[in-house]
Formats: sequence, structure tokens, C-alpha cells
Amino acid sequence: MNAQPRPYRGRFAPSPTGELHFGSLVAAVGSFLQARARSGRWLVRIEDIDPPREVAGAARNQLKTLQSFGLVPDEPAIFQRQLGANHQQALDRLLATGHAFPCGCSRSDLPADGIYPGTCRGGLAADQTARSIRLRVDDDEIAFVDGLQGTQRQNPARQSGDFVIRRADGLVAYQLAVVVDDAAAGISEVVRGADLIDSTGRQLHLYRCLDLPAPDYVHLPIVVNEQGEKLSKSNGADPIQRYNTKTSLRLALRALGHEPPASIMAVADQLAWAQQHWQLTRVPTGQVAIGVQTER
Ligand code: GLU
Repeated sequence: MNAQPRPYRGRFAPSPTGELHFGSLVAAVGSFLQARARSGRWLVRIEDIDPPREVAGAARNQLKTLQSFGLVPDEPAIFQRQLGANHQQALDRLLATGHAFPCGCSRSDLPADGIYPGTCRGGLAADQTARSIRLRVDDDEIAFVDGLQGTQRQNPARQSGDFVIRRADGLVAYQLAVVVDDAAAGISEVVRGADLIDSTGRQLHLYRCLDLPAPDYVHLPIVVNEQGEKLSKSNGADPIQRYNTKTSLRLALRALGHEPPASIMAVADQLAWAQQHWQLTRVPTGQVAIGVQTER
């Protein structure tokens, strides 16, 4: 156990696959407020390790959008693609320690449930070549206490089986990159959307295999519209596209259980109010419905 508490370092880590959407804004605002409440630092990391999914100019736009909400990171934004040497080092180490293994299976070799049955664990068949690299997982429960959602128990062996850490196209997988980069940045608490909560067990397993100190986790509510559907551009209900920054921030703070009084309107004032009042216990768990139909 560390005698010294770690300095608080939080982050927001968008993938540059398009405009910032409302769910991302909620994660950005929530992680920012939590870092401020802990007198910590708040970083932004652009997760640009998946060029096929990247949209040109998206990273710059996302940073500009964040800035328009007063969400300016305390250190220069980190670009994940520049951290490839660290990712490779982690891959090498996981292979050398036997935690990871090359896999020759293609998608069509996998069972319909998507859970990897351990086919290449013992080595590749003579006619196979390595395609991806997978991390070995045992049939073990991984428990953690989420700062908002409470105790979680996950078993990666039942969720995914041995999972991909380097993809067949040679790109490092999200699960590995996020762990290596959060550890390198000294992130003490990950605050992000609950759509990622199922990944946390796999990520905690990676921290163990790499012998790195794991952060704490807070998974923020998922925002849905009044019909209970996840907000998305495709259902036309993504407020950040439709509203001005004042209204978008108000809706994001509402989703986080911290809506300022109506008299507080300016973006900077709303954020300042939320900083003063921020308490994780006031943030709803589960899904929150936002009435996005009320304004156009
Ligand atoms: N880049 C991921 C996303 O946009 C988030 C990663 C994380 O917060 O762990 O969904």
C-alpha cells in the first residue's frame, strides 16, 4: 500500500470520430468537475489510434468545442498516436511474460457468442500465421468499487474470453492503449460514461499483468431521450448539435444532477456554480432522461 495518497489526476479521452456528442460532453463536464472538487488536474487525451475510424479535423474541433465550454485541460492535450512506443513496450512485455499470445483466428473461426475459446493459447497450428495478439484471462471474478455505481463484479473470461490487445490490422486495441496511457499520465481516477463500465474488468486485469497501479473508477449515467433511447445523431436527439453552449451545458449539468438555478446563464457562471456545488452523491446512477424536445 502507498503511504502517500496519489495526487488526483483525472482525464477526458474522446475518440476523434466526429463532433463531440452530448454523452461525451457529460463525461467531459463530469470528469472536469470531479477533478476540480479533488483539487486535482484535469487532462485531455485524444484517442486517435484508430485511423480508419478517425474523421479529419475532429480532434481539433473537439478541443475547440471543449474550450467553448471553458473546459481547458491543465496540461497540453495528449495525442495517443504519439505514444506508440509505450504501447509496443507493453505488448512485448505481455508476450515475454506469457500473459499474451499470438492468435491466428479470423472472425469466422470464432463462435457466435464472440467469446474466445482459447484456440491459440497453446501455440499456432502449423498452417496458421499470427493475426492478432490476445491477452489470456482466467475464469476469475474481478471486483471493484465504482465511486458512483458501487461494487461491480466482472469476469472477463465470461464476457470476452482472451481478448485482443493488438488487432489483426496491426493497430493497438483500445483496452491496452487506455491502460498504458492512463498509467503513464498518472491518472488516479477515471471518470467516464457507464457505456464503458463493462470494459473495466478487462482493464483492471491488464493493470495487474503489467504490474501498474490501477486508478479508481467513476462511471457516469448514460443519457437517453424521453423514449429511453440513447441519444445519438441518428435519432436526431443530440443536443450539442442542436443547442447553443449555454443550453447544452445546462442539459449536461442536469444529467449530472447539478443544474444551476435558471438565473445563472453564462457558461462560465454555470460551470463555476457546478464547481462550488459538486458532490458525487448528487449524480444519478443508471440512465437519465433528458427532455431534448423542449427547445429547438
Ligand atoms: N475514447 C473512448 C471513447 O471515446 C473513451 C475511453 C475512456 O474514457 O476510457 O469512447
